[in-house]
Amino acid sequence: MRTLKCRDAGFDCDGVIRAADDQEVLNLAGKHAREVHGVTVTPALADQLKLLIKDEQESDSKVRQPTI
Ligand SMILES: [Zn+2]
Repeated sequence: MRTLKCRDAGFDCDGVIRAADDQEVLNLAGKHAREVHGVTVTPALADQLKLLIKDEQESDSKVRQPTI
């Protein structure tokens, strides 16, 4: 799963876009930016957004046992 935090893109927004691959994240991010922020994602902006897409670390949501 790939994720993009809207905040990482410079918006004051808690939106997180999740999708199976980068292209789908970009599609959803473009829709979100247009509908929520009134911003059109240009090809140049899309290139920047690609750099902000991260793999979701599903194990992070679980409690980690400290190594003793
Ligand atoms: Zn947003």
